[in-house]
Amino acid sequence: MKKRILVVLLMACLAGSGLAQEKKKKALFVWGGWENHEPKQCVDIFAPWLREQGFDVEISNTLDSYLDAAKLRSLDLIVQAVTLADITPEQEKGLLDAVLGGVGIAGWHGGLADSFRSSVNYEYMIGGQWVAHPGGIIDYEVTIADPKDPITSGLTDFKMHSEQYYLQVDPINQVLATTRFSGRYDRWTKDVVMPVVWKKPFGKGRVFYTSLGHVAADFDVPEAREIVKRGMLWAARALKDDGPSEKKD
Ligand SMILES: [Zn+2]
Repeated sequence: MKKRILVVLLMACLAGSGLAQEKKKKALFVWGGWENHEPKQCVDIFAPWLREQGFDVEISNTLDSYLDAAKLRSLDLIVQAVTLADITPEQEKGLLDAVLGGVGIAGWHGGLADSFRSSVNYEYMIGGQWVAHPGGIIDYEVTIADPKDPITSGLTDFKMHSEQYYLQVDPINQVLATTRFSGRYDRWTKDVVMPVVWKKPFGKGRVFYTSLGHVAADFDVPEAREIVKRGMLWAARALKDDGPSEKKD
């Protein structure tokens, strides 16, 4: 009998230590490139929030962070905010190998989908490349295309005053939100329905993207901010499939 109690106690201790040693999720933010996209200000919105969710968060402003293969492998998530830069073949290989191996990648606007125009391998991973924003800063609407997906569940259609991104996109993308072009600025684009939020696989990794977020103030729109938060968690395999990522007020 005593032996049985000891065994039960031992198992309880082991379970307890197992919980204590449960791996903390790790995220790396990489920002840089074209400053008008306010990459640092945007990272300063989302990095502290991810820390509050229990992630170990590191912030870098050099693509050389993609050269440390062992370190990248230890991550759960890379968040990139780098518009219009050049990536070396070595940096590109480091990043792509990490995602192929199972590290998630998430980002927004030009920081993910207008990053390295000469790198088709990178574009193959992200699933889209920005090509135009007819009219510049305009009013447009975002339609939730998949209200059941955990990244968009509970959200309703919303309005933006920003750049309406026209992208060349990969048919593999699972599109969660869209926008319709009015044709007011480039009339041949009238009624084109363009993805605004998507997720997709790349190897063993998860890719999350939204075209929202031209400047940091765009994330004052609650839906835009919430979509990025949930997208980061989804890419890091940390999003519960049964509800929003944060408590509503
Ligand atoms: Zn922009």
